Amino acid sequence: MSLALIIVGHGSTMNPDSSAPTHQHADTIRAKGIFDEVVCCFWKEEPNMREVYEMVEAETIYIVPNFISEGYFCQQVLPRELSLDGPITQRNGRTIYYCDPVGVHANMMSLLVQRADEVAPGVPRAETSLIIVGHGTNLNENSTKAIQDQVKLIRESGQGFASVVDAYMEEAPFVANWHEMTQTQHVVVVPFFIADGLHSYQDIPVLLGIESEPGAALSESGNVFRQNPIAMHGRQLYYSSAIGTEAHLAEVILDQVSDFNQRHGLVLPSRRVQPSELEQALEDWIDAGRRTVGQVRITPQSDGQFILTHMDDETVDALAAHRGAIAAREIARNSATGGFRSLHSAPDLARGWRLEVDGIAELKLALDFFYPAAVGVAAQHERGALGATPLREYLARQTGMYRFTNNITDDQAFEIIAKACDGGTCCQRQILWPLAAGQPLAGAAAAKAAPSAADKSIPLFCVEACPRIVGPARQMAKKNHEAATA
Ligand code: SF4
Repeated sequence: MSLALIIVGHGSTMNPDSSAPTHQHADTIRAKGIFDEVVCCFWKEEPNMREVYEMVEAETIYIVPNFISEGYFCQQVLPRELSLDGPITQRNGRTIYYCDPVGVHANMMSLLVQRADEVAPGVPRAETSLIIVGHGTNLNENSTKAIQDQVKLIRESGQGFASVVDAYMEEAPFVANWHEMTQTQHVVVVPFFIADGLHSYQDIPVLLGIESEPGAALSESGNVFRQNPIAMHGRQLYYSSAIGTEAHLAEVILDQVSDFNQRHGLVLPSRRVQPSELEQALEDWIDAGRRTVGQVRITPQSDGQFILTHMDDETVDALAAHRGAIAAREIARNSATGGFRSLHSAPDLARGWRLEVDGIAELKLALDFFYPAAVGVAAQHERGALGATPLREYLARQTGMYRFTNNITDDQAFEIIAKACDGGTCCQRQILWPLAAGQPLAGAAAAKAAPSAADKSIPLFCVEACPRIVGPARQMAKKNHEAATA
């Protein structure tokens, strides 16, 4: 039996800050060697939840949501996007276990306490108030409950803080009133968020009074976290980074797997390393002379290593040297102009680097960072076992503000695809999905469905539309509605 762990994060199309901790925890767990495969997938970034199953080969898959609470995402969006039937899903010879989100685990308590000690070293807990802060709103009562549960656990376990309270950005008790809800000289504020994104890095500092207006995102400002303590209202305020960035959160992810096993009377099977079919497929392609993927060139070395470069840098000598698969994630993160690449198949990979990886397994991992799920999807396509979701089916699945997107006409859909997916400027993938069952792409979109010329590359396929289609489809559907009701 082989084992895989999939960690699901929210992600962002704006910057890498939201997905960074999820990737880091995956790196930590991968290095422990408990699972044959450890991968991430995201709601707003690649790989998406449909593609991620093509990245892993294991028969037993554990899925842990790296989310702060149960609720809309963990109870509706993730099960829908991951095609789950419940806590245990049997599909295509695989067993998929869906664990609880990290934020509701009781062991989050120790992380919060540890974080408070780290941010205010040497400060006696008896003279310190600890505030755990979340978003809050009536729409998100589960996140409020997750925080209240942690506050209760810290209080009841006698950690010695003068007080422990919950506070929120958008509902009472408001974090902006931190100086009124506490009496001690020292006040530690720990954001109960998965990542240092918009809320914890930009919004809460303004609410606390540390900043006068929201600053740049963490990845754009390049700052280390703020200097503590900050003297305000005659007190010493200590502000921490989001709890989800704590390195030990990787342990909580594993705790959720153990708890799942315990609840269902399962034992984590021993990992059995099996020959990887995906690695074999990759090796065969390279032996057959297929040495490029997207904009990446693969050059095998006689000692079993591989050198990866931008395909336009073949004759360039002065390249920045990198080593190891994880460096691929950093290289692929920003374009040459510095912008965040939320779509890895966009033809804007930066040049000027040279990456050395050791062996086929590390090459596969590196390619998964350059082009998430591409190797698995191409191998599945070669086996004739790849499904693709018709656009109409994908649009019909949209909810919330996107629920009307399927009201666009066929021609409008083709127009949107031709623009949003243009191979030269937007996306190098070849679309495998039809407009609807039995209705292939046509008109301006037909070129995106045409197979690429037999150019010896490892193909990049699109098996389901992405948010680049949904956004314009929503605008178009809105215009249609306005025109019909005018
Ligand atoms: S929908 Fe278009 S832009 Fe999005 S991944 Fe597919 S081909 Fe690329």
